[in-house]
Amino acid sequence: MSVFEHINGDGYEQVVFCSDDHSGLRAIIAIHSTALGPALGGTRFYPYSNEEEALVDVLRLAKGMTYKAAAAGLDLGGGKAVIIGDPRRIKNEELLRAYGRFVETLGGRYITAEDVGTQLEDMDVVRRESKWVTGCSRTYGGSGDPSPVTAWGVMNGLKASCLDVFGSPSLEGRTVALQGVGKVGHALCGYLVEEGAKVTIADVDVDNLASAVSDFGVETTSLDNVHRMEVDIFAPCALGGIINDDTMSELRCKIIGGSANNQLQREEHGEKLMDLGILYAPDFVINAGGLINVEDELRGYDRQRAMKRVEGTYKQLQLIFTMAKERRISTARAAMELAESRIRKIGRIRLIRTAGFGPASAGTRA
Ligand code: NAD
Repeated sequence: MSVFEHINGDGYEQVVFCSDDHSGLRAIIAIHSTALGPALGGTRFYPYSNEEEALVDVLRLAKGMTYKAAAAGLDLGGGKAVIIGDPRRIKNEELLRAYGRFVETLGGRYITAEDVGTQLEDMDVVRRESKWVTGCSRTYGGSGDPSPVTAWGVMNGLKASCLDVFGSPSLEGRTVALQGVGKVGHALCGYLVEEGAKVTIADVDVDNLASAVSDFGVETTSLDNVHRMEVDIFAPCALGGIINDDTMSELRCKIIGGSANNQLQREEHGEKLMDLGILYAPDFVINAGGLINVEDELRGYDRQRAMKRVEGTYKQLQLIFTMAKERRISTARAAMELAESRIRKIGRIRLIRTAGFGPASAGTRA
């Protein structure tokens, strides 16, 4: 399939192929939309088996960022970048700085951040060549690790979900099955226990499991039982695709809400959850805390303000739950429609020309 066949028809604005022979950099930056603002999304460093696989991934991820930013009510568009190769073998200063030069050429239309295969320290290196970088270290004025902020957003989203299902936002006495106690899951476990929830965890990593047990005194369960537990809340904080044809009939929870991306294997699984009477907090809404956190860097980072803004996840989800009920559609569909409506409405007013005739979406970073 040609590059244009992949891009056409889905509204992508720009796809940039970046190559630097000497450092071995081969990267693709995809800008899906700048209708609401500069396209912000992380840089994934991954050993794709071929270029087409990398292109398909970056396009899918960039579009997802457009929806995530719009649903969170941010003045950001959607973009993403991939660097092709094994980060453990080829990642070095020369390559990252070459990548930074390409990010800089886009003049703020694309703003990067960390993702799978890149870390805080890598963003500090990229930042040496481009100011269009977020997720840098706190020492460089960045926002540091976003995970606790993401967890705080999930926590607030779970409160909104409890209000909808049980008539009270309190988590006191609620039972929660938590899949994955990594960076986000561990922090979420702490928040839940603090609020009096009874949490049971599962993780493939025995060290992560042990650390959560020792920090919070929670119970554990097996990997294949965690989604089957009869609980108030199932919180997926590990992998995508956990809600699928196989797991659907095994779910015994009343609410699904967690940080994992792409929890529904297919969109129709959102409708199936609705039919089963399980309230699904759409993943790209409840886990937007990380994005809100890096967006805050563009204003000069303030952790307290970021945490406060992330609490807005509560209201965003309430809006989505109400919309889903009124229109008798799944919460997943309602979230998509909320994002699309914002892109249409706010995107349209941003077309009104200002004095410089430049796009209003040129970014805010000095
Ligand atoms: P992480 O790698 O720190 O944690 C993931 C945890 O899941 C690990 O402890 C891992 O051992 C465990 N795990 C992996 N496979 C598992 C399985 N089959 N069963 C149970 N546990 C399993 O990652 P993270 O940063 O905590 O992110 C968790 C999820 O949230 C990911 O899907 C990520 O994309 C998403 N997310 C993270 C952020 C963030 O701020 N870190 C923001 C938005 C979304």
